[in-house]
Amino acid sequence: MDLGISGRKAIVCASSRGLGRGSAEALADAGCELVINGIDAARLEKTADDIRARYGAKVTAVAADVSTREGQDALLAACPEPDILVNNNGGPPFRDFRELDREAILKGVAQNMVTPIELIQRVIDGMAERGFGRIVNITSLSVKMPIAGLDLSSGARAGLTAFLAGVARDYAAKNVTINNVLPGKIDTDRLASGFERASANTGRPIAEIREEQTRDIPAARFGTAEEFGKVCAFFCSAGTGYVTGQNIVVDGGLYPAAF
Ligand code: NAD
Repeated sequence: MDLGISGRKAIVCASSRGLGRGSAEALADAGCELVINGIDAARLEKTADDIRARYGAKVTAVAADVSTREGQDALLAACPEPDILVNNNGGPPFRDFRELDREAILKGVAQNMVTPIELIQRVIDGMAERGFGRIVNITSLSVKMPIAGLDLSSGARAGLTAFLAGVARDYAAKNVTINNVLPGKIDTDRLASGFERASANTGRPIAEIREEQTRDIPAARFGTAEEFGKVCAFFCSAGTGYVTGQNIVVDGGLYPAAF
C-alpha cells in the first residue's frame, strides 16, 4: 500500500526499540526521511544502521532525553521542518498509586503529557503553513481501561488526549491531523521486563505468566511492534487528512466495547 508520504520528513521520539522503532521502520518503509531518538546512544546507532540497511532510508540518530528542552532542541535542530511527528517516551513504572510521591507524579506527567505538548507547540504552525502535518501520539490502552499499577500512565495520557482534542480541531482545515494510537499488550522489552519482575516476585515461570496474560486477548497473543508501527504509519499517511482527534486502539480486541 502506497502511503503517499515518500520523501516526507519524520521525527520519531523514543524509537531505538519497541513501539517507537516499529513506527520508525514502517515510516522508513513508506519512504520517509527519519530522525530517530533514544537514550542509549550505542543502541540508537545500531537501530539507525539496521533501518538504513533494510530500507535504504536517510536516518539521523539523535541520542537525547526527549523530556528535556535540550533533547527537544537537538531533535528540531536535526529536522527543523518535520512533516510527521510521532510522540513517544518511556512510561511510568508499574506502582501502587499510594507509593507515588509528588516528584514521581510530576515526572510521569512531564514524560507522557507535557513533553508531547511541547513538541507539538514547536512544530504545528510550520506544518500548517506548509499545508501538511501528521502527528501521532503513542499513548496507551490504559487511557480507556484501568490497568492495575498504571494509574499515573492513565492520568497523564488521558490529560494529553483531552488537551489535544481541541487543538486537533483547530488545525484540521490546514491538513494537519493529531491522532492517538493506543497499544494494548505489545511484545516489547517493556512488556517482557514486567513479566520478569512478576516472575521474580512470585516465583512463577515467565512462560506461565505470559500465557496467563494472553488469555483475555481475543487475538490470543500479544501484538508485535511491527504491527503497531504499521498502524502508526497509516495515520501518518497522505490519505488520512480527514481523520483527526481520534483514539485508535491496537490491542487484538482486548478493549471490550462496541464503540
Ligand atoms: P520499550 O521500553 O521497549 O522502549 C522504549 C524506548 O523509549 C527505547 O527506545 C528508549 O530508549 C526510549 N526512551 C525511553 N525514555 C526516553 C527518553 N526520556 N527520551 C528518549 N527516548 C527514551 O517500551 P515500549 O513497549 O516500546 O513502550 C513505548 C511507550 O508505550 C511507553 O511509554 C509505554 O509505557 C507505552 N505502552 C506500551 C505498551 C506495550 O504493550 N508495550 C502498552 C501501553 C503503553
